[in-house]
Amino acid sequence: RIRDKVALVTGANRGIGFAVAKGLLQEGITVIATSRNSQNSNDFISQLSEYGDVVHHQLDVTDNGSVNACYAFAKVEFGKLDILINNAGINYDTWQNVETANLDEVRQTVETNVIGPWQTIQSFLPLLKQAENSSIVNVSSGGGSLASQTGSTPGYSISKLALNGLTLQLASKLKNDGIAVNAVCPGWVRTDMGGSGATKSPEQGAETIIWIALQKDEFVTGKFFRDKREIQW
Ligand code: NDP
Repeated sequence: RIRDKVALVTGANRGIGFAVAKGLLQEGITVIATSRNSQNSNDFISQLSEYGDVVHHQLDVTDNGSVNACYAFAKVEFGKLDILINNAGINYDTWQNVETANLDEVRQTVETNVIGPWQTIQSFLPLLKQAENSSIVNVSSGGGSLASQTGSTPGYSISKLALNGLTLQLASKLKNDGIAVNAVCPGWVRTDMGGSGATKSPEQGAETIIWIALQKDEFVTGKFFRDKREIQW
């Protein structure tokens, strides 16, 4: 029955998002692989299509019109959404001092990493409610944990802390609809964001995200995971 499932991944054109889309396809799930830029989308979509049933749609998480256009497409095409992966994120490398941080950059980071997933979830909720046992995964970071709020990436860390808060708020609210909402830290992953010295491949970074998105055994919601284990907020 898993073959009937539909998933949407934001920022699926590269990095962890691409690996998540690939992994979900390998599980037999139909994937709406989205990217904010439609140019060159043929390249990554043709790579992904080797693994299963994939469709592309443009989706910029900071653009309401774009999110809603993607929603309209998914509604007509599939009529439901089983899995939403909020993967798109920016600005880990904006190393700053909290006393002097460029707040325009911080605002942009929060816009993409917090308001983006929030908007995407709000827009896609009607379709998530159409599916049975649907699942939202917010790709967060250990940098967003409370214990990490002493580090040197204040804009990024505060954005992921807020994303974790959003995860808890939604988990509590959507429990009765049978919609699971969890956050995952992928670990340190070799992508443009993580750099070439990171310890995990994109596929390894995608593993826990896919695992909790599928959660076959029981209903798990409102939790934060890394390496398939619960971690502290
Ligand atoms: P990359 O920088 O490699 O990829 C980021 C992706 O997000 C790209 O596809 C990018 O699209 C997309 N994106 C950025 N802004 C938007 C937007 N407004 N709308 C839609 N898509 C957008 O990062 P990673 O793959 O490493 O990171 C993925 C997630 O994992 C992020 O949320 C990140 O914070 C998190 N993470 C990563 C870690 C790591 O070590 N790599 C560690 C902890 C967390 P485009 O190509 O157009 O720029």
